[in-house]
Amino acid sequence: MCGIVGFAGNSPAVEVLLDGLSKLEYRGYDSAGIAVMDGNEIKMRKMKGRIADLTKKLESDPVAPAPIGIGHTRWATHGKPNDVNSHPHMSGDGRFAVVHNGIIENYASIKEDLIAQGVQFASETDTEVIAHLLEKNYTGDILETVRNTARQLEGSYALGVLCTEHPDRIIAVRKASPLIVGLGEGENFIASDIPAVLSRTRKIHHLNDNELVELTKDGVRIFSEELQPIEKPVETVTWDVRAAEKDGWPHFMIKEIMEQPTALHDTISPRIADGEIVLDGLSLTKKDLEETSRIYIVACGSAYHVGIVAKYFIEKVARVPVEVDLASEFRYRAPMVDDKTLVIIISQSGETADTLAALKEAKSMGGRILSIVNVVGSSIANESDDVLYTWAGPEIAVATTKAYSTQLAMMYLIGTYIAKTLGRIDDATYRALLADIRKLPEQVKEVIEKNNDFIKKLAEQFSYIEHAYYIGRNLDYAVAMEASLKLKEVSYVHSEAYAAGELKHGTISLIEEGTLVVALASHMPLLEKTISNIKEVKSRGAIVLTIAQEGATAVEDCSDYILNIPATHELLAPSLQVVPMQMLGYYMAIARGCDVDKPRNLAKSVTVE
Ligand code: GLU
Repeated sequence: MCGIVGFAGNSPAVEVLLDGLSKLEYRGYDSAGIAVMDGNEIKMRKMKGRIADLTKKLESDPVAPAPIGIGHTRWATHGKPNDVNSHPHMSGDGRFAVVHNGIIENYASIKEDLIAQGVQFASETDTEVIAHLLEKNYTGDILETVRNTARQLEGSYALGVLCTEHPDRIIAVRKASPLIVGLGEGENFIASDIPAVLSRTRKIHHLNDNELVELTKDGVRIFSEELQPIEKPVETVTWDVRAAEKDGWPHFMIKEIMEQPTALHDTISPRIADGEIVLDGLSLTKKDLEETSRIYIVACGSAYHVGIVAKYFIEKVARVPVEVDLASEFRYRAPMVDDKTLVIIISQSGETADTLAALKEAKSMGGRILSIVNVVGSSIANESDDVLYTWAGPEIAVATTKAYSTQLAMMYLIGTYIAKTLGRIDDATYRALLADIRKLPEQVKEVIEKNNDFIKKLAEQFSYIEHAYYIGRNLDYAVAMEASLKLKEVSYVHSEAYAAGELKHGTISLIEEGTLVVALASHMPLLEKTISNIKEVKSRGAIVLTIAQEGATAVEDCSDYILNIPATHELLAPSLQVVPMQMLGYYMAIARGCDVDKPRNLAKSVTVE
């Protein structure tokens, strides 16, 4: 998510930190801050806004030219982007300053304990508990103190820590968030990503989970969790800065496809505790849900496609009527919203103009608004009664991948939660769904690893095509819509999605010898019916690529190519199917020489109606 940098050397730290942070701004950019060690005192400047804003602030309100410090560019997960919530965060006694990248899943219980002990909190962040824990845990040995503190934390973190008692050093530790060490001449660095250090050194160490770093200008020592020294080989970076921002991937789109296991884990895992769904930020009570007569899901583009999967899912498990609307249509069609209507708004950026306008319309009609957004403190988040954040991190590629996947996971959690709260799901189904939702990050990883080479080859083989049709029934049809969009928006191949049973009512006339049909056939209850539809197109000359669950051998006879996804609960297959479909879109675009991260005529955040 965010970017952190730490520097110990002979030059003024502020300049080095600001330069490093500016290279990490792609990782998060809602607030920024630095802390430097001025003698035995920590001096801090932090604020909402971009690195450029912080740079200006430091010009008018400078800190001493101290040669050691830490910096942060934030992508808020807990608490709005504002000055107080910006990092670094300090302990109450001013002895520790910390920058953090990640999410502390157990921060609420730690915070409660600390408050009971009289600790005062300044911010709404999960991170601040770390600063106060460092103060409580301080033994005089800074390394041990950070290690002991890290042991109390659940979730993901890369931390950079300054301590006034040890003014010549930075201590760092990581778990499930990236962190590298940069090795310079008389100066050393920590950073979330390589670009931050590339203007000063190409020599780095990658860190593994639970490893600790003690960094001074003269040297870097790395320790295991048991505080045993570790020798690591020095790696030399050969990439240029642009490639490094993408962590070695050629495009943000493929990088973000590959980040989906982590993004899904970050979104799902904090929402399931002790075998139950815990939806932070949801004030909707059981009574509210009992009184809800219908749900509207309102969104644009891929988020709208998430809504279609969610309609099938929620109606099936929770038996509440759901309507899905395009935001630009919803506003102008006199929707029947009243105070018994739950309106679920889905938007990655939280700034989509049509969606925001639809939200306001629904609110003025008395609807209760629950939004699913990726950007904390965005306009949609601010206007909603309840907000559930997807924790996908910044999405840079115009074509969404990880935002779609995390929105979908969030909708599964919401649907299952509503079903459980209303008593519409039996315990065994509830447990089975939860168990399979938890498995999604791992299974998505498996899908990517197993199919990457195959999809690349397929894309090269089909790079000449100008038309493609995606077919499926029920949830497969919902995924077909997103799959089709993924292909057309980045590769400019004309593609359409059809409900497989609808083909014979007109569209099948488009199928001729050699037409590519992608058949989504993972919804097991309707497999036989889908197979009949596949046979209809096959017998008219289509080349068929089928996406099926492992073991569904019945698709073999009617398919030219098969992509397998692992077995999962029948309602969750969309999460696994969409990933190879994103990869097909990506590799087709590459094979056709398209500008995949910036497709023609499109923009990332659509802030015009
Ligand atoms: N969870 C922390 C916060 O919201 C850190 C977010 C980040 O990685 O930028 O402040």
